[in-house]
Amino acid sequence: MTQSRPNVLVVEDEPAQREILTYNLEAEGFRVATADNGEDALIMVSEEMPDLIVLDWMLPNVSGIEVCRRLKTRSDTRAVPIIMLSARSEEVDRVRGLETGADDYVVKPYSVVELMARVRTQLRRTRPASQGEVLEFEDISLDSDTHRVHRDGKLLKLGPTEFRLLATFMEKPGRVWSREQLLDRVWGRDIYVDTRTVDVHVGRLRKALCVHGGSDPLRTVRGAGYALG
Ligand code: CA
Repeated sequence: MTQSRPNVLVVEDEPAQREILTYNLEAEGFRVATADNGEDALIMVSEEMPDLIVLDWMLPNVSGIEVCRRLKTRSDTRAVPIIMLSARSEEVDRVRGLETGADDYVVKPYSVVELMARVRTQLRRTRPASQGEVLEFEDISLDSDTHRVHRDGKLLKLGPTEFRLLATFMEKPGRVWSREQLLDRVWGRDIYVDTRTVDVHVGRLRKALCVHGGSDPLRTVRGAGYALG
């Protein structure tokens, strides 16, 4: 399954560091968004939930620790892995002691190769769909290895686009996806597709999901987009 590229948010106030991180993460095939301070980072997370955050400890105004603490106390952002960057190992000890909930810590100056390995490790942990596990929502199950979708035990026939759409919805049930976000995730950012195309494929997905009966699990959120459940 060609899964959408994970998006990584880099929060780092030093432009050179930001550039190095962006360059290397993009080379790994990730989509990258950047913020140079904690406030912007928190706003950006609300606008588009990243799959992972690389977060510098020392930031102007709202510190990296505070950003981490806030995200880890919010139920909607708690599961997003955070890798904290810190200048010295004593700082790492302190950050650990503060119980910020960060998922990993990397000491500067870090090896880019090692940091990328840690990014991949965190993403493997939180993006089970890319590992061929079965996603379940109510009576729907999606197996990304075999590309099979069952509802109430019955096999459903889905086109590749509908399959990727459903996989995206099932990764985060309840989350409202805008048409633009679905375009990014399912079609890819570099491809020009009209947002109405999303409506067409969501319509097909709905039809396929209800072909053997059962209620429509997809919700149209007026002015916002679509959600599962
Ligand atoms: Ca810094």
